[in-house]
Amino acid sequence: MKPKKALGQNFLRDPHMIAKIIDSLELAPDDTVVEIGPGRGALTRGLLAKGVTVIAVEVDRDLIPVLENEFSDYDKLTVINANFLDTNIRSLIRAGGRPKIVGNLPYYISTPILQRLIDQLEDFDRAVLMFQREVVERLTAEPGNRERGFITVVAESAFRIERVADVPPRAFSPVPKVWSSVVRLLPKPGVHVSEAFRALVSAGFAQKRKTLLNNFKTRLPNAEVMLQKAGIAPNRRAESLTLEEWDRLLELADPGD
Ligand code: SAM
Repeated sequence: MKPKKALGQNFLRDPHMIAKIIDSLELAPDDTVVEIGPGRGALTRGLLAKGVTVIAVEVDRDLIPVLENEFSDYDKLTVINANFLDTNIRSLIRAGGRPKIVGNLPYYISTPILQRLIDQLEDFDRAVLMFQREVVERLTAEPGNRERGFITVVAESAFRIERVADVPPRAFSPVPKVWSSVVRLLPKPGVHVSEAFRALVSAGFAQKRKTLLNNFKTRLPNAEVMLQKAGIAPNRRAESLTLEEWDRLLELADPGD
């Protein structure tokens, strides 16, 4: 069966990288792992070898019999044919508890997956995800870095983000054109990323070259006063703000949320 380019099917084949991803999940035998996009089972095999329960969600119907055949001896694996974006973590885990999430993900799905995970922060323990390297650079961009954008700020408000490894194209088959990187996302306890926060950050980054005041003033009636009260110069750009400054702005923009 040929790998499907449209589904981002570059399968991991480097055993050291597979081991590194699995180690960074810090598994205990009674853990449950939700795997997004198991493909032909490169990570699934390593997970099952650790004795954990695995729920693997694969969108490609053609891969389901391949996985079921390959792992027919393992009763701790459930393979689900679904788009992860249409599932929710709580309904996947019948036994309750907070699973760990792992996935080697196609580029086109990285932002929707992150948003989906941010919506379900309380429902999982951690996520170890492989993205295209540029996505991880954006996710870990510090204030002042041009790569910093909406998804950086929203992800930073939700997670402690650790870069685990950079992965060369030769670690996959077929070999992609680009490097990938693995990140570990640890949900911040007690955090809820509100719609108001997302709307504020989205307004601030509406046009990256514009100043904060210019971006805010068409969307927020009190933009000037808000920036002044927050002690943030109106001519700064969204990429320069720290998370703490975004939080301060949120309080002034919408104290009721
Ligand atoms: N985990 C395997 C590995 O490392 O070899 C496969 C990785 S491959 C980059 C991505 C996998 O995700 C493919 O098997 C693809 O069919 C699957 N996939 C793509 N979009 C998906 C989605 N929305 N939900 C679930 N699986 C998806």
